[in-house]
Amino acid sequence: MSDGEVEAERSRRPLPGTAPKGDEARAFRPARSPGMVCRQRGSFTPSPEPPVPPSKSSFLYTEVFTAMTHRLPIGILGATGMVGQRFIQLLEDHPWFEVTWLAASDRSSGKPYGEAVKWRLDTPLPARIERMTVSPAEPEGAPRVVFAALDATIARELEPRFANAGCAVVSNSSAFRMAPNVPLVIPEVNADHLHLIEEQPSRRDSGGYMVTNPNCSAIGLVLALKPLEERFGIEQVFVATLQAVSGAGYPGVASMDILGNVVPYIASEEEKMEAETLKLLGRLESGPAGHAVRPLAARMSAHCNRVAVEDGHTESVSIKLGNKLGRPVTREDILTAWEEFRPLAGQDLPMAPAQPVEFAPQNDRPQPRLDRNRGRGMAATVGRLRPCGLLDWKFTVLSHNTIRGAAGAAILNAELLVSLGKLEPATAASHA
Ligand code: NAP
Repeated sequence: MSDGEVEAERSRRPLPGTAPKGDEARAFRPARSPGMVCRQRGSFTPSPEPPVPPSKSSFLYTEVFTAMTHRLPIGILGATGMVGQRFIQLLEDHPWFEVTWLAASDRSSGKPYGEAVKWRLDTPLPARIERMTVSPAEPEGAPRVVFAALDATIARELEPRFANAGCAVVSNSSAFRMAPNVPLVIPEVNADHLHLIEEQPSRRDSGGYMVTNPNCSAIGLVLALKPLEERFGIEQVFVATLQAVSGAGYPGVASMDILGNVVPYIASEEEKMEAETLKLLGRLESGPAGHAVRPLAARMSAHCNRVAVEDGHTESVSIKLGNKLGRPVTREDILTAWEEFRPLAGQDLPMAPAQPVEFAPQNDRPQPRLDRNRGRGMAATVGRLRPCGLLDWKFTVLSHNTIRGAAGAAILNAELLVSLGKLEPATAASHA
C-alpha cells in the first residue's frame, strides 16, 4: 500500500465498539489533503453562539499510529517564552516530531535563537536549536503543524491567521479555548471533542484548524475529576490553588512581590478554571447541525493564589459526588477509580504517562519539589484523600504547570491528532 492508502485505511478503521457511523464518520475525515507549508487563504471565524446540541450520541476515536518513518516538521510560535522553551526541551529527540521553525516577536526575529532567548531550563539548550534563526510570526514558510505559546491578546490575532493559511495550530493560550467550535482537549479526558475541528470554516477552506489545551490549573484538576465523574458523577467542586511563578511566564511576577509572600489574585484565572473544567468534562453532542459540547452541569468555585514556588501547581479540592453508584462512595471506590484510569493504555503515544493520576499515600504529599516530575512531568499526583465536612470528599492534586499544564499537554494533543490521521507524516522529499 502507498502512504496515502495506508492513511485512508487507518481513517476507516475504528477500534471495536468505538466506530463513528454515517455522517459522524464522514465528518471526521480530513476536508482536504493538507500540505506541508501554510498558505494564506480561507477564514477562521469562531462561531458566536454554540449550535443547539442535536442528539445524545458521543463517540471515541482511538486509532493508533505507530509507524512514523519520517519525523513531522514542527513550528513553535512564541518559541523564546517559558512555554516555548519547554516545547524545545520536550521535542528534542521526540520520535514523531522535529522542530524546524521558530518564531517570536519583532524583538527576536532575525536573531539566532541562542541570542534571542534567555534559556531558563535546567537542561542545555540543544546546539542545533541554538543556531536556528528566529522567523517573523507570519504563516508564510511555517510548517503545517504549529505549537503556539503566545499571550492571549497576541494569539487572538495570530492563531486564526495560521489556521486560515492551512496550519494545524495546537495552542496553549486562552484566546479560543471557550469558542464553541474549538476543541479544548485533554486526550485522557475528552478526545472525542476533537470533532469540533470540523465546525471550523478554515478546516473546509484551507485544511487548517485550531486545537487548544486548558489552563495549567484546570488540567491537573480535571485529570483527577474525570475518573470520579465517570463512575460516580460530580455535582459540586470547590478548589483553592497554590500556583507556581513560572505560570506567569518570564520574567513574570517581580521577586519583590512574591518572595516570602502569597498573592491571592491571578487575573481571569478563576473564571478560566471554572468555565474550562465544565467544558472539558462536558459531553460532545452531534447531529445534522454539527457538533457541540454541552458543559457538565455541576456547580464550581475556584480560588486562585500565586505562591513562591518555581514549578508545579498545587490545588486543594472538595467535591460533592453524584449518585451513579446508587450507594455512598467510599475511599476505596475513589482510589480504585484513580488507579484504573488509563484511557490511553496501549495507544503508544510517546508523551502519555502510563499512570495519568498517581496516588501518593504519605500524609504530607504531594509536594511540588518532590512530585511534579512524576510521569516525566505528565502525571497528576493526588493525595490527602479524606472526608470533607462541607461536601463529600477532599484531596490535594499537583501537576507540573509548564509540562502537563502547557507544552507537554499540547504535544500530547498533537500525538493524538497523528494517531487519528489528522496530521500526516512528512515525506522524505518534503522533509529534505
Ligand atoms: P512568555 O514567557 O511571556 O512568552 C511569550 C512568547 O510570546 C515569547 O516567545 C515572545 O517573544 C512571544 N511574543 C510576544 N509578543 C509577540 C508578538 N507580537 N508576536 C509574536 N510573538 C510574540 O509566556 P509563556 O508563559 O510562555 O506563556 C505563553 C502562553 O501559554 C500564554 O498564553 C500563557 O497563558 C499560556 N500558558 C502558560 C503556562 C505556564 O505555565 N507558563 C501554562 C499554560 C498556558 P519575545 O521573546 O520575542 O518577546
